[in-house]
Amino acid sequence: MRSAWKGSTINNVNVFPRIIISLEIIEHNLETLLRWYREKDIQITAVIKGVCASSEIAELFSNHNIHSIGDSHIQSIKIMKDAGIDARFMLLRPPMRHELEDVVNNADFSLNSEISTITRLNAAAEKFDKKASIILMIELGDLREGILPTRVDEYIARICKLANIHLAGIGTNLVCLNGIKPTPNNMNRLSAIAQKIEEKFDIHLDIISGGNSANYQWFRDADQVGRVNHLRIGESILFGTDPIAKSKIDGLKGNAFLLSAEVIESKRKASLPEGIPTFTAFGDKPRIKDEGEMNRAILGIGLQDLDIKGCKPVEKGIRVIGATSDHMVIASRKRLLQVGEIVQFNLTYRAVLRLMISPYVLKVYS
Ligand SMILES: *Cc1c(COP(=O)(O)O)cnc(C)c1O
Repeated sequence: MRSAWKGSTINNVNVFPRIIISLEIIEHNLETLLRWYREKDIQITAVIKGVCASSEIAELFSNHNIHSIGDSHIQSIKIMKDAGIDARFMLLRPPMRHELEDVVNNADFSLNSEISTITRLNAAAEKFDKKASIILMIELGDLREGILPTRVDEYIARICKLANIHLAGIGTNLVCLNGIKPTPNNMNRLSAIAQKIEEKFDIHLDIISGGNSANYQWFRDADQVGRVNHLRIGESILFGTDPIAKSKIDGLKGNAFLLSAEVIESKRKASLPEGIPTFTAFGDKPRIKDEGEMNRAILGIGLQDLDIKGCKPVEKGIRVIGATSDHMVIASRKRLLQVGEIVQFNLTYRAVLRLMISPYVLKVYS
């Protein structure tokens, strides 16, 4: 599959913008993280949602000893299954009602936090004579998805009565919405909840899913991880970063993603706009410093394709000035860029997210 794709890029040698993806770097990070986490008996769901179900990356993930591949879109899971990716799949976002039958037929696990949804999932599973495996999410402080700890018993009692639901385990998600840090305190709380459920209901929970890439420091510093035996990891595999430290993790590699965009206009122009200032296309009022005349260039890419806050020019002296939906403007301190020249950028998660979805951006794997 990978070589067929490479073949087709040969016909596209002049096509920009493009995002160049190093499968080697991603593989290095995945292998390293799997090795580290295995030392404390933690399994990994490799989260692929940041790269829009790339079948090349999904294939790479599936060739390693992962628990499953995770995505928040059931469509993406279906695409990966149709591409023949040999892995189990975990739906990371509690399902919407129209997704339930697809969840039963395509997701090996789904994260859930509403009894009404779980009841409907049970009915959908019954229709296909299947069992749907769920992980019940517990709210431990970040205030995104999860049932309140005080309601655990009531939920479990009701779930246990649903014949076509298999309670695979419990989980929690921190950091994402409010930046609440995974600590021994909240992780021990999750372990204690798991223990209590098992004792009270005389069941075994396979999966105690402690969180995401942001659990790295907790994991690294923990002498014992309690009952936590599973994490859902995206960012640190793809970017080698620790979202809490906001920096690269020693031993992992960054810059798996590189953007190349083409200069479509390059001129010396003023830095200060002329005329009566109103609002931009996106309703902002830019504040611009007068730096005199400058080398300005326009690239054939825009906000439709990427979040410019997530891209950093590789070449020193180049700086991003701004962008509209389809034009990106940069300044070049040292020289006037050539029309047709290619400018490269390193990327963070927020830029890659949109670039991978954009049909206007060519994806090249190296
Ligand atoms: C996105 C997501 C993850 C992965 O987060 P990273 O920071 O990329 O590791 C894990 N769990 C859930 C529920 C998610 O939505």
